Amino acid sequence: MDLCGSYTGGCLCGAVRFRAIGEPVSVGWCHCSSCRKHTGAPASCFADYNRDNVEYTKGRPAYFQSSPGVMRGFCAVCGSTLTFEEAAATGMLFLHLGSFDDPSSFEPVTSSHAGERLPWMPA
Ligand SMILES: [Zn+2]
Ligand SMILES: [Zn+2]
Repeated sequence: MDLCGSYTGGCLCGAVRFRAIGEPVSVGWCHCSSCRKHTGAPASCFADYNRDNVEYTKGRPAYFQSSPGVMRGFCAVCGSTLTFEEAAATGMLFLHLGSFDDPSSFEPVTSSHAGERLPWMPA
């Protein structure tokens, strides 16, 4: 957390930069196959924020609608995965942990879609 009480992050090339204000609502793993496809990683980890507490300080993500009401944000320049966003009703925005400048600030406490977890992944 910086002096303003926020966490900063962005994509690999720096075209998209964000600031997440305050502590996340939750931090957790997602083992679903859609996240796996979107990231190319065996599992995803997210810091969950209210949309109002996330602002873009440089650029904006591009979006892919992976299923009705679900948008996945990424950098259109370098392809970095950035967000998982549900339809506006929930007001939640899930930031991929690896996009933060200091991901060690967060430790996952929940696990979603455990039924799709790869058998060799630690729970
Ligand atoms: Zn980028
Ligand atoms: Zn997922």
